[in-house]
Amino acid sequence: MLKHVDVLIVGAGIIGVSVGAELSRRGAKVCIIDKGLLGKGCSYGNAGWLTPCFSMPLPMPGMLLKSMKWMLDPEGPLYIKPTLSFDLAQWLFIFMKSMTEAQALRSIESLVLLSQKSFSEYEKLAKNHPEIHFEQKGLLMVSRTDEGVDSAVSELHYVQDLGVPGKILNGAEIQTMEPALKGPILGGVYFSQEATVEPYQVVQAFAKEIRQRGGEILENVELKDLTIEGGRITSALTSSGEISAKQIVLATGSWSKELAKLLRFRLPILGGKGYAMIVPTLEKQPQYPIMVVEKKIAITPRRNSLRIAGTLELVDQDFSTTQRRVKAIEKGAREFLHLPESLAVQELWAGLRPCTPDGVPLIGYHKSISNLVIAAGHQMLGLQSGAGTGLLVADILENRKSFLDPTIFDVNRF
Ligand SMILES: Cc1cc2nc3c(=O)[nH]c(=O)nc-3n(C[C@H](O)[C@H](O)[C@H](O)COP(=O)(O)OP(=O)(O)OC[C@H]3O[C@@H](n4cnc5c(N)ncnc54)[C@H](O)[C@@H]3O)c2cc1C
Repeated sequence: MLKHVDVLIVGAGIIGVSVGAELSRRGAKVCIIDKGLLGKGCSYGNAGWLTPCFSMPLPMPGMLLKSMKWMLDPEGPLYIKPTLSFDLAQWLFIFMKSMTEAQALRSIESLVLLSQKSFSEYEKLAKNHPEIHFEQKGLLMVSRTDEGVDSAVSELHYVQDLGVPGKILNGAEIQTMEPALKGPILGGVYFSQEATVEPYQVVQAFAKEIRQRGGEILENVELKDLTIEGGRITSALTSSGEISAKQIVLATGSWSKELAKLLRFRLPILGGKGYAMIVPTLEKQPQYPIMVVEKKIAITPRRNSLRIAGTLELVDQDFSTTQRRVKAIEKGAREFLHLPESLAVQELWAGLRPCTPDGVPLIGYHKSISNLVIAAGHQMLGLQSGAGTGLLVADILENRKSFLDPTIFDVNRF
């Protein structure tokens, strides 16, 4: 089969469908392919947080000692299994070099803007798609240690002048607000504007809009190769035939590094493996989404259950489940919530966050292939910055000035 479309998007996660939805709205004929099922990659079971307050890149100033301590602890929030790998060594080198204040400020400013733009897009989406369960209750960052409280306050300082309001609270104020938390709590920050959604429903909602506008989403269709002639991709070879497109967008999340090899191009994206478990509603069910700072655990109340997510283990295409790390999430949550002695986990899910070493996504044109745009590497923020990425990519493809200067996302920077 040879199919012709305006834009071929590879990857049907939140980034791919956000781009597809925006381009369809603008009248383009789009086709999205995914080697698996729609939205079943990292965009499936994440915490569902739309939290511009968390617009920090992974490498933050002062993280070196902290991350080295965590890296050596197989139950710590950030873990890197010691392995001999050139890709890993190179990734870590850039990661450590990126922990500067100047770089953090630049990155946070752009990521907040991208997240705020996305936020208003999700608010609009919720009007036609109540099934995404957009709920704006704010977010509580809580801690039992001085270091944790300092870290929450420092996050507030980074974002408050960018239009993300938050209030410093002491332990008693937090426990009055959220009685489901086990004491003692030392303190934290309440960010009042943050929201949550059901992440898989968001992907489905965008997909529905794409199909309604005549776009196609082909599941179980894998990109295998690309034909390049005269600095342009002339056709894409997929597992079910050839597709030709005027423009191609690679939105392949943590798989992007391998695909870039087809183009003899380097995309240093590794997977930041995390887990989320869904458990039945607790007797003392929290009312607010909660970030336990020292454990890096994200607790999200849902209508009939609770989602507990956490850990970041740096891996290269390893989807295995490490029970020890899953147990560490449960143990951490148990210290802050009244979990039953035997926890009936309804669903356990693992996803690979696409992590660039400087913590900033890659969005823009490839330097030597004139019709290839990359949109990948959204680390811990792919949902909250997804819809905005859709707008940005559509503007880039149409060569229009966008709401945000995309220079910081330069895909050719490594
Ligand atoms: C535990 C956890 C909690 C998280 N919580 C949040 C949160 O609360 N808020 C937030 O903003 N972010 C969160 N994230 C991060 C977020 O989930 C990711 O940043 C986001 O899902 C990445 O989206 P993506 O579209 O880039 O990748 P994916 O959703 O992984 O999509 C990439 C797609 O590309 C497809 N693909 C790959 N190779 C090919 C090929 N050759 N041919 C065709 N298709 C291909 C894959 O099958 C996949 O479907 C969390 C992540 C984890 C793990």
